[in-house]
Amino acid sequence: MLRIAVFLALALASAASAQQRKTILMITDAEGVGGVCRQDQTDPKDAEMRQLLTGEINAAVDGFLAGGAGDVIVWDGHDGSQTLSTLTIHPKARMIQGSLGASMLMERHFAAVAYVGQHSKADVRGGIMAHSFSSLGIQTMTLNGKTVGEIDVIAAMAGHFDTPAIMLSGDQAAADELKEIVPDAEMAVVKEGLGRYACLSLSAPAARDLIREAARRSVAKIGKIKPYKIPGPVTLQIEYTTRNSLAFEAQYRTGAEVLGDRTIRFKGKDILDVWRLYRSR
Ligand SMILES: [Zn+2]
Repeated sequence: MLRIAVFLALALASAASAQQRKTILMITDAEGVGGVCRQDQTDPKDAEMRQLLTGEINAAVDGFLAGGAGDVIVWDGHDGSQTLSTLTIHPKARMIQGSLGASMLMERHFAAVAYVGQHSKADVRGGIMAHSFSSLGIQTMTLNGKTVGEIDVIAAMAGHFDTPAIMLSGDQAAADELKEIVPDAEMAVVKEGLGRYACLSLSAPAARDLIREAARRSVAKIGKIKPYKIPGPVTLQIEYTTRNSLAFEAQYRTGAEVLGDRTIRFKGKDILDVWRLYRSR
């Protein structure tokens, strides 16, 4: 009987502490990883890229835990979520495979979000393999008139739920992009773009050391860095590429206005609203 009581007390205590644990959502991608400079390296099954990416992710997990995070959730965000494996991910991290959905799971109110392996938005000079969500499908994306890519949209969605973006690893162009909207976030610049497919990169061990330290320092900034918020109403405009021009039915989509063969505009009351309209088919 005593044993059962002790067990129940421990179970309740651990549930309570789980709520207070600082959980970090890590968004991962391939184009911003040190040593990844060519398009062929971004194939999800490329063994070397997987090793480079996993090494950077695990270094970041180490850093977050050393800095005081209680839980790190890693999203396999590159190309259809088929690049990471629970066989090689940090033993203390958990992993998400598959789509995060329109809200990007931010309604879970994570303590912070971080980016590992991040590239810059489309049309950035010196951005290694720069693109906004889809290099083949999307030419340009704007939010309230500002050109954006994954960095802004993810930071804004997190901010909508009062979660700050605290750290990024990637190329110089990606770091500059986050710095513009979250000046106090910790940056680990692992490579510099010398062109779209040319880069000056750190070695894998040096990149991992840099990332580990940036991640460790960033945890102390939770509560100090302001969540990034886009004031509503929010207009999202997307210009697709020629190979991805709009279907004729696009004009009937809720909240949508077709501006041309390749351009569509959505209006919503906030980022979550507009992103839901864009994502719903
Ligand atoms: Zn990407």
